[in-house]
This record gives sequence, structure tokens and C-alpha cells, in this order.
Amino acid sequence: MKNIRNFCIIAHIDHGKSTLADRLLDFTGSVTEREKQEQLLDSMDLERERGITIKSHAIQMDYEYEGEQYILNLIDTPGHVDFSYEVSRSIAACEGALLIVDAAQSIQAQTISNLYLALENDLEIIPVLNKVDLPSANPEEVTDDIVDLLGCDPSEVIHASGKTGFGVENILQAIIERVPAPEGDPDAPLQALIFDSVYNTFRGVETYFRVFNGEIKKGQKIKFVATGKEYFADEVGTLKLNQVVKSSVKTGDVGYLITGIKTAKEVKVGDTITDFANPTTNIVEGFEDVKPMVFAGIYPVDTEDYEELRNSMEKLQLNDASLVFQPESSAALGFGFRCGFLGMLHMEIIQERLEREFDMTVITTVPNVSYHAYTNKNPDDAFIVNNPSDLPDPSTVNRVEEPYIKATIITKSDFVGNVMSLCIEKRGMITNQTYLTTERVELTFDMPLAEIVFDFYDRLKTVSKGYASFDYSPIGMRVSKLVRLDVLLNGQPVDALSALIHADNAHTIGKKMCEKLKELIPRQQFDIPIQAAIGAKIISRETVKALRKDVTAKCYGGDISRKRKLLEKQKKGKKRMRQVGNVEIPQQAFMAVLKLN
Ligand code: GDP
Ligand code: MG
Repeated sequence: MKNIRNFCIIAHIDHGKSTLADRLLDFTGSVTEREKQEQLLDSMDLERERGITIKSHAIQMDYEYEGEQYILNLIDTPGHVDFSYEVSRSIAACEGALLIVDAAQSIQAQTISNLYLALENDLEIIPVLNKVDLPSANPEEVTDDIVDLLGCDPSEVIHASGKTGFGVENILQAIIERVPAPEGDPDAPLQALIFDSVYNTFRGVETYFRVFNGEIKKGQKIKFVATGKEYFADEVGTLKLNQVVKSSVKTGDVGYLITGIKTAKEVKVGDTITDFANPTTNIVEGFEDVKPMVFAGIYPVDTEDYEELRNSMEKLQLNDASLVFQPESSAALGFGFRCGFLGMLHMEIIQERLEREFDMTVITTVPNVSYHAYTNKNPDDAFIVNNPSDLPDPSTVNRVEEPYIKATIITKSDFVGNVMSLCIEKRGMITNQTYLTTERVELTFDMPLAEIVFDFYDRLKTVSKGYASFDYSPIGMRVSKLVRLDVLLNGQPVDALSALIHADNAHTIGKKMCEKLKELIPRQQFDIPIQAAIGAKIISRETVKALRKDVTAKCYGGDISRKRKLLEKQKKGKKRMRQVGNVEIPQQAFMAVLKLN
């Protein structure tokens, strides 16, 4: 136990966490030449393409230092706010953290939020100034920023480059010297924390855990405390690049468990594993059920594909427990599912996986948050509204609450004005403003979560010329003046286009909605009126003019192959259209409300 070190790497996105992790693996000889690939830890294709770590993973390295053999368990954490609960559990499984700061970008919003998580868990922090090879690196200044933030000595900040490998040996030595060895009682009843799980088609769910007390043995009868389920540990082992089967995994170590569990839902990150016969009374604190934050309808483009979509979603859910869904039907779109996601990135990933892995073409409706509606009849019981069209008749509604977040934004002082105007436009209330240095400011706002869902990231990037980083955490429900904005096409309400909007913004948004839809809906052989309404009141109107459009007319019948290409292109475009009444609506139209500016 005294020669084990468990650590994670925390950083703002793109500060070089994955690259540095790869260098650590190289340096300790944990990967063979054949296994070497860029960004080794990001094993899903999608992760690699998007350059983000979606699921956390763990890997064990052997390292000899001053004549002693050490085991270093690196627990990789996802960097995106959508997956912050997983970050917090990975952090809880460690004694130390490498805090990576980009030498050109300095401290950013997620540097700080992750640091706080690490400090809450009493982790030893090793600051690493990364990317010192960059010509734009500012090592002195950024070191000062780090020293200010941590209250450490400048000599404790390790200069490194994941690109060149500079400083990697110093990092490994610092891990051994500064991160405390795990404590815990090897003779106590088993107590292990689940910090991740991975679905494997052949072996079922692989559970990753950290043992705090006792040991977990092959064949042992175990119990998952939060779910109350009992299993036999069919296989246990440690995590090298491949799994290494062991007869037991002992106190202080990190390992994997296979029990024949077939669905990801049964394994909850944050749950405690204990011995069935002799359970621990120590529960690793902080278990939470992961709650979806963003909801949207997913519908097959072809109504006949509904059953196939259900099968695909069920399969996806087997390996992504944070995806929730239930059947719903829409007057406009027919049968589909209301799905809950951790955030917008998660939603995009699910949509993309449905298309890539299951070959489904789907329509995704406007995402929304989860509202609480209280009726006059029942003013104390919240009616949960995950779909705007479920909002009860306004005349019966006593009040509606929406989820709020605390938003933290770090930006340059030049952009404070712009960022503030944006946040105020998004119904934010500033709660704090702190100058981190003369040039860098941290702003905090209380803001409705729904405003983050709607085009916030893009706008923030634009108004700050890319010099703003953003993080948020939920702070509960608050009463808001919300109304349902409905859209009518050709006189017919299209339920999938409804959204809950703050009453003060409803007119502006209704108008912009109609204008946007006019751009997006292709002309047909008849006029298509587009109307926005609140209740029975029409607040805006546009018309898509009739046009008989023969796209091949331009080709003068000459170039037949060009004509064919055009027709094919048109057919492909059609795939993503949905016929509602006699109007064809393209996929983008369902997201129009997100892109109004
Ligand atoms: P992560 O989001 O924190 O995991 O960051 P990545 O490891 O994916 O790195 C983000 C980007 O920075 C990639 O394009 C890397 O190639 C680049 N990068 C990472 N480390 C270094 C470094 O030390 N020097 C330079 N010049 N680029 C780096
Ligand atoms: Mg990464």
C-alpha cells in the first residue's frame, strides 16, 4: 500500500490533459510500440474525433524510483461540464491531482471548478504549467497566476510539455513524493467506490472501482449499497492498457469487476461495493443519481422506423446509463421518445451515435429544461413538465418554476462589458465580480439553465473573441414568468415547435422564430403562413411564398450527370424532412429557436 499512488489529472478543456497522460504512459513503458496511438485514453472513435474525453478511464503504470517499485494509478476524467458528476467521482477515488494549466491560456473556468472539487476531497495538488514549448507561452505570468490561486511556492509548479515530453520525469517524481500513499484497513470489511463503468457487448458491464478498505476477491459475494443488488465477483483485476486478471484487488488499489451485469443502469457511479455477509458501515460519501438536465423529443424520420428506433435507444441505454427516455407522441411528428440528457453535448453525442452505430435517421426537437408547474387546484404539488406541450392550461396554472444555475465566467477585462450584457440579456443576475489579475476577471451570475441551452456558448465565444471560459452548477428551482409560445404552420399548431419562454421575451422571440422558419422551410406549390401564438393570440406572422421549383431546369438538359447529381442531392436533403400536414419541415427548423441571432 505504501507504494501505491492514486491520482487524476484535472484541467480546463484543451489544456493538454490527454496528451500529457499519453506521455506519462510512454515514459513508464506502459504501452508497447504497437499500442501507441495518439490520445490513447480516448478510446471511443467519437471521443477521438471530437478531441474530448467522454467517459473516464483508469490505467495503472509501474515506475521505479530510488530503487523502489511503485504502482501509479491514473484516473482520467472527462473535461466537459455535461459530465461533471463523473469528474467528481473520479476525484473522490484519488489522493492527488495534477492540475494542468496551459502556459498561454492561464487559469480558466474549469481549472477553478475542478480545483475546488479536488480541494473538497482533500487531494494533494501538483500544479503543472503545460505547453511551455509554445511560442505564445507566458511561463512567468502564468506561474504567478497559479501561485496566487493555490497559495503555493513558485518552485512547486512543474514546467512541462505534453508535446515534447519535457518535464514528464519531474511530474512522476512529484507524484511519488508529494501524493500521499492510500490509507485504509486491509482487514476491515470491503468498501470500494465505483467511479466508472464501461459496457462491453460480450462481457456485460465492467465496473471500475477504488478499494478504500478490505479487499475484493474473485468469487466473493458482494453487494452494491445504493441499488441494494447482490452479485458474485466473477472476475476482478487491475487496469493496465488491457485488463490484468487477479485473485483479489486490495486496499488502496484501483481495479475492475465483472459480474455479468447486462445493463449500465444497474451500476451507478458513486455507489459503494461491499461484502454481502460482512458489509461495511462506511459508505463513501456523496452518492447522487445523475439527473438529466436537458430534454428533447427524438422521432424517426420515417414513421415506420419507430420500433427500430426503440430497439436502438434501448441498446444505447445499456451502455449509457445517463440516457433516459420514454415514449411520447406528437400531433406533428407521430410516435417518438422524450429523452433526457446531461447537457447539449450529451444530446449531440446520442444523436450522432444513433446515426452511426444504428443507422437511424432521426428528428430531434427543440431541447428544453425540466419545469415545475403548480396548478391553482394543487398549489403545493409540482407537476413536472419535460415537454412544453405538457404545460397545463395557463388559466389553471398558479406558477411555474424553472431550474437556475450559478454560472462562472472567466474573461479578459476588455470583454467584461460584453459578457455582462450577454448574461443580462439571458436573464442573468450578477452575483460577484473578482479581478484575478489586472487583466483577468471572474464573473458569477445566477441564471436560468434554459438560457444556457439556447445558443449561449456560441454567443459567449463571439462577444469575448474566444477569451471567455464558462462553467456552471445547478442552484435549484425559481419561479419565473413563463409562457408557452406555439407555432402554427398553415394554420396548424406544430407541437414539436412549442417552447416555454419568459413572458418579457416572448414577442421578440416569436417574431424571430417566424423569420427564421421562413428561411428554413422550403417553398412549396402553395403559400405557407407561419404564425407564432401565445394561447389564442397571434403575435407574429410570416409567409413562405409559393413557388414551383424545378432545380434541374438550370441544367438545360445538357449535362446529364450533373442533373443526376442534383437530383440525388435533393433526395438526400429530403431524408431529413418531415411532412407535417401538407408542409415539409426540415430538421433545422425544429432547432430554429436555438439559433435566432
Ligand atoms: P485535453 O482537452 O485537456 O485533454 O487536451 P488535449 O490533450 O486533447 O490537447 C489539446 C490540444 O493541445 C491538442 O491539439 C494537443 O495537441 C495540444 N497540446 C497538448 N499539449 C501540448 C503541449 O505541451 N504543447 C503544445 N504545443 N501543444 C499541446
Ligand atoms: Mg482529453
